[in-house]
Amino acid sequence: MTARHRSSYLLSDRPAVWSLALTGIVFAIDLSLPLGVAAAVPYTFAVLLALKARARWFAPALAALCWVLTVAKMGLVPERGTTEYWKILVNRGLALFAIGMTTFLGVRRRQAETERAEAEEKAREHLATLARMGRLHTAGQLATGLAHELNQPLTAVCLQAETATRLAEGGAQVPDLLPTLREIAEQSHRAADIVRGLRRMLRQDEPAPTQVDVNEVVRAVCRLIDTQTRRAGVDVRLELAPVPPVRGDRVQLEQVVLNLLQNAVEAVSGITTDPRVVTVATSSDGPDRVTVRFRDTGAGLPPGDEHRLFERFFTTKPNGMGMGLAISRSIVEAHGGQVWANAAPDRGAVFTFTLPAGKG
Ligand code: ADP
Repeated sequence: MTARHRSSYLLSDRPAVWSLALTGIVFAIDLSLPLGVAAAVPYTFAVLLALKARARWFAPALAALCWVLTVAKMGLVPERGTTEYWKILVNRGLALFAIGMTTFLGVRRRQAETERAEAEEKAREHLATLARMGRLHTAGQLATGLAHELNQPLTAVCLQAETATRLAEGGAQVPDLLPTLREIAEQSHRAADIVRGLRRMLRQDEPAPTQVDVNEVVRAVCRLIDTQTRRAGVDVRLELAPVPPVRGDRVQLEQVVLNLLQNAVEAVSGITTDPRVVTVATSSDGPDRVTVRFRDTGAGLPPGDEHRLFERFFTTKPNGMGMGLAISRSIVEAHGGQVWANAAPDRGAVFTFTLPAGKG
């Protein structure tokens, strides 16, 4: 910075200008009045003002100027009256000490403030890094999850499209094809909903929480996989009690119900003995909690691995991905709830999740 730039920079800095003006005034008063140490005290105010200047060197420089002026005064205008010389020296010494201490303490304080601001900035950066890493982690998890979630509606679309083609080839009329075509449309919408929900999560938007009727979610998901359950010869029974609404993201809660229901249906499909039943029951434990329970008559939880069910990539199925339960748990927990699995008393497994009512 050149001298010209430096002076215009200083002039634009109000505390610097005011402190210089105050120094000049104090010096004039000190020259004209016999105030002893009292005259030098206002120099400390000038230093305090100078500490607010943008340039860090300014306060120590101004303090040095105040020192020079305090000493110079003794040479220019000697103290009047009968004051002994040693007293004058002590007075001036005290003034110099006050100016020096004010500067020292002020500079130290400013340094501490800078260090604190730097530490806060570092902490903010660290949090931002953590958030970024969290996003990457979620993105990785979602990419794997996407394949899993889309698999079901896309398989259903393929099967229904093949059915429609076969019916049409067999000379079926348009009204006969309508239920199949409607299902294709419904499954396609579901796939689009899943992609939209995942995109929203990837953008780190908050899930759009609404009041969700869990019974309605269960019914909608049952309708979605109705063809699959009928084909597998599994009887899905609903025992839906009146429950308070929960606050949450409807598509995400549908994913949880779909994962648990599909697992239960698959577990029952794997056995040949009757009964082949999945029961979905809802209940509310008081006004604060909604519970959803999936009970099946399948082969039961894999022995010895009960504690690993919710781990990512844990699967006992030949074509399984082991993501369904892990994703379900993270969604339920994000909604403030819990999910767990037990062996059913007689045969099969029971998967249960609870959600807080009205919150999310
Ligand atoms: P995937 O279905 O791809 O295997 P999940 O995370 O949904 O992944 O399930 C993990 C594992 O938990 C399954 O492979 C299975 O061993 C077990 N499991 C899930 N649901 C049931 C159930 N209803 N009955 C018995 N075992 C189940």
